Amino acid sequence: EVVDALVQRVGGGPAEADESAWRERITPGRFDGRTVVVTGAASGIGRATARRIAAEGGSVVAADITEPGLETPPSESDTGRILPVTADITRDDDIDRIVAAAAGRIDGLANVAGVVDDFSPAHETSDEMWRRVFAINVDGVFRLTRAVLPAMLERHSGSIVNVASEAALRGNAAGVAYTAAKHAVVGITKNTAFMYGPHGIRVNAVAPGGVATGIAQGGAPDSAWGNERTRDFLRMIPPIATAQQLAASITFLLGEDGVNVSGAILPSDGGWSVQ
Ligand code: NAD
Repeated sequence: EVVDALVQRVGGGPAEADESAWRERITPGRFDGRTVVVTGAASGIGRATARRIAAEGGSVVAADITEPGLETPPSESDTGRILPVTADITRDDDIDRIVAAAAGRIDGLANVAGVVDDFSPAHETSDEMWRRVFAINVDGVFRLTRAVLPAMLERHSGSIVNVASEAALRGNAAGVAYTAAKHAVVGITKNTAFMYGPHGIRVNAVAPGGVATGIAQGGAPDSAWGNERTRDFLRMIPPIATAQQLAASITFLLGEDGVNVSGAILPSDGGWSVQ
């Protein structure tokens, strides 16, 4: 019952119903001449981000463990291009292939790939769950960041956006593994923003609330506690956003509009964080 409610509210599959609405809002040429790496690009927020950047003139290295089914160009009106790379961000050799695909120039990185836990509290969380969530949501963000920095340092310019979560801001939005992992993403964001600010590199995070993507479908609670707590948070969650709305927040920080912003954790959650 809780699983159904969660999937119904948070996960309905890729929501591209507002396609024409977001296409009206694109800023032509905003990413002209820029190369941006987007992870998690096969679905949901990453896919919407990759498509928006390409529509705005950027070259996108679209990486995902699932083959990113993105065409080049995604639409006739798009001026940029998308280069799909099938890669697992927990593997160093795959990360090397992502960086190589950018062919030397990397202006931006959107660390979007992630998985959710099963909403379990600590005493019901297995080592396996903890390690899987950290390997993808934390190690993946760290390793991709480390891998793109040399290219950014060389040009004294770059912008990184990490996708955190409402669970990075509060204790009642997921299980312990996901909550801890997303708090770690905030730590990576703030430290790298501090360390590389003097080198022309900005680092920010977006904290989504509920977004209509496929992510919740594999993340149903598996325990009585998880179910009970999920019921609690489902009562609070504000209206669900579309992946395109999250792409708007991510591309704002990635591109020149965000030029004076670094080290910020931007809630993109319909106001959930202030409830
Ligand atoms: P999604 O499941 O649609 O997309 C996540 C993508 O990450 C998938 O395409 C998946 O294949 C990819 N991925 C998973 N493991 C990978 C790996 N090892 N290597 C490469 N790619 C991998 O989900 P989404 O909602 O678009 O999630 C994107 C990000 O947004 C995640 O970091 C998630 O934690 C965060 N987020 C989502 C929500 C929400 O309600 N949907 C809320 C808060 C935060």
